[in-house]
Amino acid sequence: MGFKDECGVFGITQHSEAANLTYLGLYALQHRGQEAAGICATDGAELRLYKDQGYVADIFNEANLQLLAGDQAIGHTRYSTSGGNIKESAQPFIRNGRFGRLALCHNGNLTNAEQLRSYILTKEEILQSPSDSELLLALIQLSQAESLSDAIIESLKQVQGAYSLLIMDHENLFAVRDPHGFRPLVLGRLGNRYVFSSESCAFDLIGANYDREVLPGELIHIQKGSLQTSFPFERKSHKPCVFEHVYFARPDSFVFGQSVMKTRREMGRLLAERYPVSADLVIPVPDSGVAAALGFAEASGIPMDFGLIRNHYVGRTFIEPKQSIRSFGVRIKLNPVRHLIEGKRVILIDDSIVRGTTSKKIVEMVRQAGALEVHFRVSSPPTTHSCFYGIDTPSRENLIASHMNNEAMNHFIKSDTLAFLTLEDLIRAVHDESRGSGYCYACFNGDYAVPPPVV
Ligand code: SF4
Repeated sequence: MGFKDECGVFGITQHSEAANLTYLGLYALQHRGQEAAGICATDGAELRLYKDQGYVADIFNEANLQLLAGDQAIGHTRYSTSGGNIKESAQPFIRNGRFGRLALCHNGNLTNAEQLRSYILTKEEILQSPSDSELLLALIQLSQAESLSDAIIESLKQVQGAYSLLIMDHENLFAVRDPHGFRPLVLGRLGNRYVFSSESCAFDLIGANYDREVLPGELIHIQKGSLQTSFPFERKSHKPCVFEHVYFARPDSFVFGQSVMKTRREMGRLLAERYPVSADLVIPVPDSGVAAALGFAEASGIPMDFGLIRNHYVGRTFIEPKQSIRSFGVRIKLNPVRHLIEGKRVILIDDSIVRGTTSKKIVEMVRQAGALEVHFRVSSPPTTHSCFYGIDTPSRENLIASHMNNEAMNHFIKSDTLAFLTLEDLIRAVHDESRGSGYCYACFNGDYAVPPPVV
């Protein structure tokens, strides 16, 4: 509980309800970004765009969806890891140029964005936002390649970092994942039409079938209903973000070829086996701790119950009233169920500890609700390093685990005992070895596949 979500992308081709289905897809991907959302649709001639800041349900209505006529659309939900929470950085981006009018949605973060920006500005191009995603479109439009497909390939060869992209013009749709495959992107079918999404949960909502992952380094081109695939980039080690399984993705999604519910539950099970504790009740920190808490309860034989209730209606824009009333802190989001907790030795299960301040408040809240003992179990290893691949993490010095050992953190959050999943057990939970391809674990071990940007 602490890292911020990133972005979600969705796209569909050859469907007369393309914009409406994209709206539904974005609704399912709302958890990946709540700052802004947008849809671009085409009827085979024009590209039409509607985007704004806020939640998907607040931005779109019948009237503006009707303006997005056409049979092909891409959409985006945004959380700002680059480019700030401003209207200009909302996606999709549209840019006119050599290849006509192009639209792009991006999930990820470019580590050489500043160099790319300088290069683009030397070409006297005008950029509308501080977003790294807009740079990709500018690069493509600057390319001297023969075809749009070649221009995309040429541009992406200049780019470093993480990208899962949907790019379209009035008749083509491209889906591409960076060669390390940091961020997810899946391919599905709705009848004989192709659909793309950051997570498979969006397919469930629109009645599409999950087909497969777009593979790291793969470029898929859809034109007139036919699919062509290629691997035009230098092959790199696969580094999908393990934090998608720990926290970001919805538990009902299939990500990197695996059920998130299954891997998350396994994390809880392994945590219980390695760090058992005598207690009366397992309590998940909602919502992301629920699946791991189920696994912990199963493996330990200790019952699980919902001793903390989350208020789902607290938006990002909630402004805490002046301190003269009171400091609500974490209480505005979570409330303990006193009759479940009072007189019990409880085990709290959370997915991660970032700064430690929220964990400390939760422990205090549970003690005030009458817990006799509070044992804290975390279903991921200590987060010691920042992410540069599309997740909004604090700088390293603000990550509590970067400068405190387990004992000091236990003392800081005032729990009776504290234990984290080991990296070895996380690797087991996500079946790293049997998949025959790795994951990114850089926020746990500092092993960055792409060098962080130089600041
Ligand atoms: Fe995911 Fe962490 Fe790697 Fe970022 S550094 S991509 S959050 S595993």
